[in-house]
Amino acid sequence: MFDFHIHIARLPHARQLTQLLLDRNYDFIAIACEPWEWRVVTQLKKEFSSGLKPFKVSYGIHPMIAKQVTDEMLAKLRTHLEEDKHAMVGEAGIDKRYPGYEDGMQDRIFFEQAKLALEFKRDLQIHCVGDYMRVLKLLVEAGYESDALTDRATKAPSQEVTRPIFHRFGGDVNFVKKALPYGALFSLHADCFRKKSTAAAIPHIPQERVFFETDADETFGQGKTGRNNAADNVTTDPGTESGMTSSKESGMTSSAESGMTSSKESVILTLAEGKDPEQYTPEECASELESRLESVRAAYTKCRE
Ligand SMILES: [Zn+2]
Repeated sequence: MFDFHIHIARLPHARQLTQLLLDRNYDFIAIACEPWEWRVVTQLKKEFSSGLKPFKVSYGIHPMIAKQVTDEMLAKLRTHLEEDKHAMVGEAGIDKRYPGYEDGMQDRIFFEQAKLALEFKRDLQIHCVGDYMRVLKLLVEAGYESDALTDRATKAPSQEVTRPIFHRFGGDVNFVKKALPYGALFSLHADCFRKKSTAAAIPHIPQERVFFETDADETFGQGKTGRNNAADNVTTDPGTESGMTSSKESGMTSSAESGMTSSKESVILTLAEGKDPEQYTPEECASELESRLESVRAAYTKCRE
């Protein structure tokens, strides 16, 4: 199994869960989209790097914190990409629900990251809510080229090439047709099949450009969120927090606000009726992730029939 987009650092028992997923051959891309998450994921990656099949990491800045981005933060992002030469960039993007959408700040922060992905020849994990054409326009401005005749899209993620990856894709068939020549990849979540126009667009994506994801995050442990318990035993130095504002510090604590995962999709909420989410074992979380990823695959198979 390959989970193309998971926020492992935000899940309960992050370290044990990572071990368990790797043991179970559940491969994944660990998305880290704000500074505290970069640190936890880097630490996890370090701890598990001796494994047979180390997982892949993606470093980026989510549009939810576009207004809080500092030069220091952008410099740190660059350092992470220099230090992990297999890391992707993102998730980065545009989201109409967050500050910075109207005044162009989200555009600026996304544009910076799009250029960074090109410069480092890394794939770019894109988050988009509400404005797919704007994302495409920014990619073009950043220098992404439309070259349908190359084999860019079929290269393995580890090869030196930059492709836009539309994570938790929510666009329509028109957008798919426009994005494909840019080598776009599409990562599908269970939600993608609930939106009529997206469900209708999915069969138009060549199969080799389709991936599956859970986008699992802290809403798995809702009611007990907070980066410290989400990070479990991973050691992070609180002293390094200064100057880095996380979404939690900015007050965007609820899943409804963060919009990163709808609460209906939360594993722990599903599991946790009448029970404290933290009482669920890493094994139960891992099984739930497997079944969710499998159900995305099944939905995909069904929609192509
Ligand atoms: Zn995400």
